[in-house]
Amino acid sequence: MPENIEQFYRSVDERVSELESRHGERLNCRKGCSSCCVDGITVFEFEAENIRSKHAELLKNGSPHPEGACAFLDSEGACRIYEDRPYVCRTQGLPLRWLDELEGRTVEYRDICPLNEEGDEPLESIGPEDCLTLGEFEGRLAHLENIRSDGRSRRISLRDLFSNS
Ligand code: SF4
Repeated sequence: MPENIEQFYRSVDERVSELESRHGERLNCRKGCSSCCVDGITVFEFEAENIRSKHAELLKNGSPHPEGACAFLDSEGACRIYEDRPYVCRTQGLPLRWLDELEGRTVEYRDICPLNEEGDEPLESIGPEDCLTLGEFEGRLAHLENIRSDGRSRRISLRDLFSNS
């Protein structure tokens, strides 16, 4: 039996919580800080279905945030679907690392929100186990979407979920 969306989000949140404990001092993420809530985010249909099923009233009668920021932001800069926000929103602000191939070599890249750059340890010195390594969760999410869509996965813009978009 494949995991459902709640199980998937729970396991993402557990990993995020571990990393937040490890990096608490440098993380400035808080309600109202919405610089990573950019416009144009898309999600797999698998995640869109979850938002539709839990926020039908908002999507039918609510208005999206004006263009230029995520449609789900409210006027105070808070997320109106916070408990059900997509995967990509759950990992923002953490030290991220990913591996890529460059000229036959595996190269590691890292990134962090500029607001969380300052810390007692430079980003490049943090142990790999203390970064969120991209790939595993994305692979699981893509797998769940493939099962749902029978191999015909598609992405939906968050803004397009609103009837009034
Ligand atoms: S869904 Fe919520 S957390 Fe994600 S970008 Fe939009 S407002 Fe921000």
